[in-house]
Amino acid sequence: MSPMPDEFGLITRLFAPLAAGYPGALGLLDDAALVDVPAGRRLVVTADAMVAGVHFLPDDPPDLIARKLVRVNLSDLAAKGALPHALLLCAAFPRDVDDSWLERFAAGLAADVAEFAVPLIGGDTVATPGPLTLSLTALGLAEPGRELLRSGARAGDEVWVSGTLGDSALGLMVLQGTLTVPPADAVFLADRYHLPRPRTTLGPRLVGLAHAAMDVSDGLAGDLSHLCRASGVGIVVTAGDLPLSPAVRRAVDADAALLAKCASGGDDYEIVFTAPPAAGAALRLLSAELGVALTRIGQVEPGSAAVVIGRQGQPLPLRGYRHFTGGG
Ligand code: ADP
Ligand code: MG
Repeated sequence: MSPMPDEFGLITRLFAPLAAGYPGALGLLDDAALVDVPAGRRLVVTADAMVAGVHFLPDDPPDLIARKLVRVNLSDLAAKGALPHALLLCAAFPRDVDDSWLERFAAGLAADVAEFAVPLIGGDTVATPGPLTLSLTALGLAEPGRELLRSGARAGDEVWVSGTLGDSALGLMVLQGTLTVPPADAVFLADRYHLPRPRTTLGPRLVGLAHAAMDVSDGLAGDLSHLCRASGVGIVVTAGDLPLSPAVRRAVDADAALLAKCASGGDDYEIVFTAPPAAGAALRLLSAELGVALTRIGQVEPGSAAVVIGRQGQPLPLRGYRHFTGGG
């Protein structure tokens, strides 16, 4: 196990290649990066931090830690209708991190820099006496005034969500040993937990169709309550309409209580959005074109709370329920 190389060697060897193709990154050899914003575009900026022992386990595969860090940020950009432009990484590595760990971490970053065509243009690298701490900042580009915001929902809109819900929440339960499913389902669900698929293609295409959007990262019900507050509306979702993968469908068939997990669990990284009924036909065409499922799950109404109605017609007792209904 070789010890952590010096900061500058690390940056040159592992991070500078990820800036290739972005002249403004100056090869990660200068104090700062130069960003040209094309005429008629505006920067959309987001950051997410991840701490070992809090957001991932210290012995998780380093390449997957890196990729999850990139993807949770790209999910935020997608939900604003922005195209990914560049990344900045601030990394505080424990002094005893070894070279092979760092190489695998950088390989994970490299994979996603290539997959999403989004260069790493700067950051900072320090050593810490505490746990591994990572913060990624993502820059995106959008057309000013056309970004998708949480605040645009209107009564009469329909509520839609991309992909499937609950895969990651159930995947975590499988990894923690609190849920047993057939082996192939376990592999599928664990992968969904480890490697989010941010909707980078879908998000920008929702501009002009959606009135409001956000990414589902902390659980659909809780996230929708934020959208309700931002828009000054209420939302009613029908649990029976939530899109479920075959693996989750099988788990819910075996234990109906797991349906609530799909509405309240986290780490989905899908986009939930509201759109006027007139946009329905265009959304179905878009879904077919992109090969991304888009499912109508509810309605925007006058009010101030997000409620998920269960199969028996009562609101589901979800974690955070009292918080977002103000009652319960
Ligand atoms: P400073 O001395 O101002 O902290 P550094 O010498 O740490 O700057 O950084 C030198 C260059 O390397 C800068 O362009 C910086 O953006 C880049 N850099 C440092 N750490 C990282 C990192 N983890 N990822 C990407 N770029 C980095
Ligand atoms: Mg520095």
